[in-house]
Amino acid sequence: MSDTPDPRDLHTDTLAIRWAQLRTDEMSHSDPIFLTSSFVYDSAAQAAARFSGEEPGNVYSRFTNPTVRSFEQRLAAMEGGESCVALASGMAAISSTFFTLLAPGDHVISSRSVFGTTNVIYDRYLKKFNIDTTLVDLNDLDQWRAAIRPETKLLYLETPSNPLSEVGDIEALAKLAHDNGALLIVDNCFCTPALQKPLELGADLVIHSATKYLDGQGRCLGGAVVGPEEILKEIHGFVRSAGPCMSPFNAWVFLKGLETLGLRMKAHSENALQLAQWLEQQPGIARVHYAGLDSHPQKALAERQQKAFGAVIAIEVEDSDGRRDRQAAWRFIDATRLLSITANLGDVKSTVTHPATTTHGRVAEEEKQRSGISENLIRIAVGLEDVGDLKNDLGLGIKALGFE
Ligand SMILES: *Cc1c(COP(=O)(O)O)cnc(C)c1O
Repeated sequence: MSDTPDPRDLHTDTLAIRWAQLRTDEMSHSDPIFLTSSFVYDSAAQAAARFSGEEPGNVYSRFTNPTVRSFEQRLAAMEGGESCVALASGMAAISSTFFTLLAPGDHVISSRSVFGTTNVIYDRYLKKFNIDTTLVDLNDLDQWRAAIRPETKLLYLETPSNPLSEVGDIEALAKLAHDNGALLIVDNCFCTPALQKPLELGADLVIHSATKYLDGQGRCLGGAVVGPEEILKEIHGFVRSAGPCMSPFNAWVFLKGLETLGLRMKAHSENALQLAQWLEQQPGIARVHYAGLDSHPQKALAERQQKAFGAVIAIEVEDSDGRRDRQAAWRFIDATRLLSITANLGDVKSTVTHPATTTHGRVAEEEKQRSGISENLIRIAVGLEDVGDLKNDLGLGIKALGFE
């Protein structure tokens, strides 16, 4: 681009394709990869100036790398944020944010429905530094309000939640955080900026597992944090020293993924809505959890803050003898032929998971019950295959429950 337009004048789909493109003297149309660990200097004096920070420029790819930088700038523009730091994984983004912003004695309030490993960070690592976490129900504002303490520094959530598609009110929670001198952090992995912009709704930071929809084809691990320069500068300081930086190769894959993000999220959401509506009509399916269904108690809130409802559906199965247990769920899963049995999501390939024994397997029984992770619950992350073929495949699962 010869003249740089203001990103606020461009739509997210255009930014995803055009923003922060890298172009060298070779004039390649597709983004080049700078697959290098370090950078060279014209002279010893220039090396000294770069190291001291007197002269801007690349030094070492743990600090900055042009391909990674391009991904950071593009994602920041798409989320409507000032700045972004890319990391080695979604968990690296989450833990680096916590370790940068929290100090001993601080308090965190978190939705109990967050990615399972985030709870390991709370219980094992933040606790070690005398940082206390209170878990609350994502959609119960009174619980969030009651959990506030003078030392509360962060409110943390994912919306819609995994796997039950509960929806958190970002605007209301941002207000609660700000009224109490805390920050609101939203993990936007399930919607991506193609469907939801938490910063516009008042959140302070957005977290991503780029591993999921930003890649979109299940190839690379990566993560990112987006928000104001003032905070991101601190997180970048942590990352350049602690080292959980993103590989330039992975950044390049994510740049390619971003180019098709808008189209994919639209198609994922259309497939998921069709399947969810169809599943609600089938025998053996006691309940379907999906924010796009009329039966979902928070459909109106989801419509207000999201452009579509995303790809993840959860179903509760019941066999023809009325059993709602692990055997019924496993029989259903094992009968499918097309769906991949894997805990990953955010892929063009549809995946099927039994949360109680995989993603939430290490969660205490009582906590599982409180979060609705029942033994008969199955998560389906809907991909981009033909929706008729997906129905036929899920039909095999329904047949295995004893229905024709
Ligand atoms: C997968 C996931 C993460 C963790 O990301 P990794 O890239 O696997 O480290 C965090 N949040 C959500 C919502 C996720 O789905």
